[in-house]
Amino acid sequence: MNTINWSDWRVSPQHPLDLSDIPTLPGAHTEAEKQQWPARMAELAEQLNRLQAMLYASKTRALLLVLQGMDTSGKDGCIRSVFAHISPLGVRAEAFGVPQELEYRHDFLWRIHAKTPALGEMVIFNRSHYEDVLVPIVQNTLEHSMCEERHQHIRHFESLLHDSGVAVVKCYLHISKQEQKKRLQARLDDPLKHWKVQASDFEDRRHWRAYMHAYENAMQATSTDAAPWYVVPADSKPYRDLLVAELLVHTLQSMSLVMPSPKLDLTHFKMK
Ligand code: ADP
Repeated sequence: MNTINWSDWRVSPQHPLDLSDIPTLPGAHTEAEKQQWPARMAELAEQLNRLQAMLYASKTRALLLVLQGMDTSGKDGCIRSVFAHISPLGVRAEAFGVPQELEYRHDFLWRIHAKTPALGEMVIFNRSHYEDVLVPIVQNTLEHSMCEERHQHIRHFESLLHDSGVAVVKCYLHISKQEQKKRLQARLDDPLKHWKVQASDFEDRRHWRAYMHAYENAMQATSTDAAPWYVVPADSKPYRDLLVAELLVHTLQSMSLVMPSPKLDLTHFKMK
C-alpha cells in the first residue's frame, strides 16, 4: 500500500522554484485514501525500525535527514512522530541555534560537519547549515555573491558526505502564512507552550516573503542527486509525517543493506 508519491515533491535544479505555486496542503486525496494513512504510517514505522537495525548492524552506510522550515512548520513534531518507534540507540537529533562566539570564528560548516552521522548512524538536523544562507540574507548581513559562494561550499560538502556513504535527504516543511498564524496563536493560548514563544518567531514572520526567496534560491542551488531537496506540504501534519517517512524508507531501501554474517560458526553453540 502506497498512497502518496514522494517524488512529485522533489526540487528540480532545472526549473525555477516558486514556493507560492506549491501547495501547503496535499492535493486531491479521497476520503478513502486519507483513511489509509494511519495504517500506512504504521507500516512505514515498522519498515523504518527494521532498516535502521540493518543500518546499525552493517555500519556500511549512514543517513542524514535535514529539516528546515519557518517557525511552527513542525520540525519537532515530525521528528517525534516519524522516529517514535526507532531504538534511540541508533538515532541522534541535532538542533542548531544562533551560532556561539567560537562557532562564528570558524567557517560556517565547522559546527555542522562535527554533527554528521558516522557509518551506522541516522541523524536528524533540526535546522542546519541552511540557516547560514537564509538568516544573513534576510537580515542583509551577507552579500549575494558570498551567499552564492556558500551554496557552492554546501554542494561540495554534501557531495563529500554522499561519497563517504552518507545519504542526505533534505525536507523543507512548507506551511502557509495563515497556518503559521493559527499555530503561533495556539502557542500564545496554551501555557504549556509559552516556553517556546520567541520574539524572533514574530520578527521572521514579518519577513515572510524574503525568507521564501532565500529558501527558493538555496533549494534550487543545492538540490543535487547527491542531496536532493523535497518541499513537504506541512499544513497537514499526518501528510507531512507520511511523506517524510516514505522518503526515508525509500532512501534506506535503495541502500540495499544486508545484515552482516555471523562472526563465529554458530553451529558450535548449543543451548543446554
Ligand atoms: P526552533 O525555532 O527551531 O525551535 P530555537 O528557538 O532554538 O529553535 O531557534 C533557533 C534560532 O536560531 C532560529 O531563529 C534560527 O533562525 C536561529 N539560527 C540557527 N542557525 C543560525 C545561523 N547559522 N545564523 C543565524 N541564526 C541562526
